[in-house]
Amino acid sequence: MSKILEEVLGANAGYAANFGDKASLALPPARGFAILTCMDARLDPAKYAGLSEGDAHVIRNAGGRASDDAIRSLVISYKLLGTKEWFVIHHTNCGMELFDNEVMSDLLASSLKTASIDEHGWHDHGDGPGCTEGKYINWLTIKSQEESVLEDVRRIRSHALVPKEIPIYGYIYDVYSGKLIEVPAATEAGKVA
Ligand SMILES: [Zn+2]
Repeated sequence: MSKILEEVLGANAGYAANFGDKASLALPPARGFAILTCMDARLDPAKYAGLSEGDAHVIRNAGGRASDDAIRSLVISYKLLGTKEWFVIHHTNCGMELFDNEVMSDLLASSLKTASIDEHGWHDHGDGPGCTEGKYINWLTIKSQEESVLEDVRRIRSHALVPKEIPIYGYIYDVYSGKLIEVPAATEAGKVA
């Protein structure tokens, strides 16, 4: 068994041993809201937003972007599970600022192995062959956090499957202070229409 697998299963045994009354939690989120945020390991939405099990939906992907799949989850979150307010939370020092579609597809085309970054940019060290499939994916990279939060709130707000009465708040989580910083233009764009 890998060390990681052993650690995860060990931690889970401890968690389950102290599961308490969580078996009685309802399926719909008790506090009725959803957060779309980045998968970055430094972000813990349960901690930065004060969530316990059963409280809220947290949808995560690289960048916390409003991809078609993130919107799929948000629509389910409201339509079937009754959330009433949504947050889009990107963050400072996001890895999605460190590349663009061309860089990513070129790296993948030369090797599928992990690349590294230095002051000159990204480099592949791994063996080929790579694969050109990366050229057909929009990696939804980020140039400016304010702009990406605004763009994503606007995309969700204007989506045909999203009801007008859900407020959508736009924030940036600061990895250096733990603070949520509002993007006023995004919250404005996400107002109940
Ligand atoms: Zn990120």
